[in-house]
Amino acid sequence: MRPTFPWVLVQSVAVKPFVVNVADLMHRPGVRRTEHLVGITAAMTVAATDVVDQAALEVESKLEPAGLGILATGWAQVDWQSLCRRCEQPVVGTTRAEFQEQFEPGADPDGDTFPMSRDQVDLELVAREAILLDLPLAPVCREECAGLCPTCGADLNDGACTCVPVAPDPRWAALDVLFTPGTQHTEEG
Ligand SMILES: [Zn+2]
Ligand SMILES: [Zn+2]
Repeated sequence: MRPTFPWVLVQSVAVKPFVVNVADLMHRPGVRRTEHLVGITAAMTVAATDVVDQAALEVESKLEPAGLGILATGWAQVDWQSLCRRCEQPVVGTTRAEFQEQFEPGADPDGDTFPMSRDQVDLELVAREAILLDLPLAPVCREECAGLCPTCGADLNDGACTCVPVAPDPRWAALDVLFTPGTQHTEEG
């Protein structure tokens, strides 16, 4: 009989904190468990928004048998950093992305379900996919951010610049009237 090496298991758990053994759940309808996991994850980037490398990732997921595998329902939370789309100053935030995903043995990595093996699911896979879909593509530092002057580039949050405002295109003026709340245009005939 070959000896077993417990330290191998300990090491793999430490490196992959989001890998969960679900042998106790497989093929046992009605049994469920909730996992709350905290660890670090690798960098992610969507448009101008980054999750830094080694970012703290928090995942909570209900796990229950479904079909040939496991249904994972929960949320994943991570901090992100980006640039304000109006004033280009740094902006940071936190995303909490919800997910409901199915793990199946032998699942096609390009398919709708996530692969699992040896009665283990890797919740980092679903967490990262949910976060990638949830990261803000073009955040603002605050809703009332005044942005940059399109002419001189001054940050208008620091006060008005001396540029003369660019006159709006007259072709848009008619539309402005149409869409200005309170003005009514009715056909009279
Ligand atoms: Zn801003
Ligand atoms: Zn200006």
